[in-house]
Amino acid sequence: MQHIIDRFISYVTIDTESDPNSDTTPSTEKQWDLANKLVEELKNIGMQDVTIDENAYVMATLPSNVNYKIPVIGFISHFDTSPDYSGANVKPQIISNYNGEDIVLNKEKNIILSPEYFDDLLLYKGQTLITTDGTTLLGADDKAGITEIVTAMEYLIKNPHIKHGEIRVAFTPDEEIGRGAHKFNVKKFGADWAYTMDGSQVGELEYENFNAAGVTIKIKGKSVHPGYAKGKMVNSLLIANQFLSLLPKREVPQLTEGYQGFFHFYKIKGDIELTEIKGIIRDHDRDKFDAKKELLAQITDDLKENYGDEAITVEVKDQYYNMREKIEPVMHIVEIAEEAMRKVNVDPIIKPIRGGTDGSQLSYMGLPCPNIFAGGHNFHGKYEYVPVESMQKAIDVIVKIAELTASKYMK
Ligand SMILES: [Zn+2]
Repeated sequence: MQHIIDRFISYVTIDTESDPNSDTTPSTEKQWDLANKLVEELKNIGMQDVTIDENAYVMATLPSNVNYKIPVIGFISHFDTSPDYSGANVKPQIISNYNGEDIVLNKEKNIILSPEYFDDLLLYKGQTLITTDGTTLLGADDKAGITEIVTAMEYLIKNPHIKHGEIRVAFTPDEEIGRGAHKFNVKKFGADWAYTMDGSQVGELEYENFNAAGVTIKIKGKSVHPGYAKGKMVNSLLIANQFLSLLPKREVPQLTEGYQGFFHFYKIKGDIELTEIKGIIRDHDRDKFDAKKELLAQITDDLKENYGDEAITVEVKDQYYNMREKIEPVMHIVEIAEEAMRKVNVDPIIKPIRGGTDGSQLSYMGLPCPNIFAGGHNFHGKYEYVPVESMQKAIDVIVKIAELTASKYMK
């Protein structure tokens, strides 16, 4: 287990925070530091065709060791960390044989990781946890995924008696700012399907995510001296209020879970003359997703009847779609992952993602790509931690997927 810990720590101590305000790929120069290190490491463990492109996408091949044809499968992780919390000077702490009690992350600042608040900690009693020192995030999202993929490839190289087809691996920048997939060269990657190792709890297996759209509503008013405004003033703030009040009251993030979709308006800015509202629409079901857009159009039309055609403009921009549509025709790729988990004594936890993943975009780019656990918890903040045993399980799952795929296509 020590080599997993050492490898993981060698990644998380390199700062790779991404930046949504940058237009370049990668969004921050420092992401090259880890990308270049990974290139060297992949070569050192014996991977072939190790490449890095002008946007820091790293790819490599583990050649097939059988003489019959097998689909090429891929494993993908991202090396950037979330801009939500600092990823500089990460000082990981190792908690061996976790006793199920409070973990003092930082004595000075009194920062405690407690199972009273984070009860999933209790799943890992007796295991080895890696935590932060309370001042940064950890970066298990998604350097745990990278650790697992590299270690699994190393294991397959050292154990050639395990039969597998060609395996492609890729490490990408800027996932945390929604741009991990957009410059991913699916054709160059050349896999028939792939898995992102980017989920949380051990056992997670995901192939459904939201359909997503962004909404911008602009409402125009007319400012007149309030003392002489009768029949003349149009107050855009009040129309905005009216618009929001016509949306279904229960379809909001704070009242929904599972497969329930929502409208979420998160920003409003305005005065009498002009009010702008920003929001998002989310739903797993494509028909319900479309119905939500239709409702916005309908409310807009109704309000236009009162205030005129010019008064309201609504812009709805699709952001990503539920990968389920692309996975269902190739459901065996989920079944192989499920079977691999059971074979290594991991209970699959299959549930819809209430968000998007790189895999959802990749699936629509022609690379079907479910998501598998990487093992960490409490992403994007100082309470992030990862059990080493969960990383070991993820490594076992990767190896088993490779092995199962080969055995299913054996002649
Ligand atoms: Zn991630």
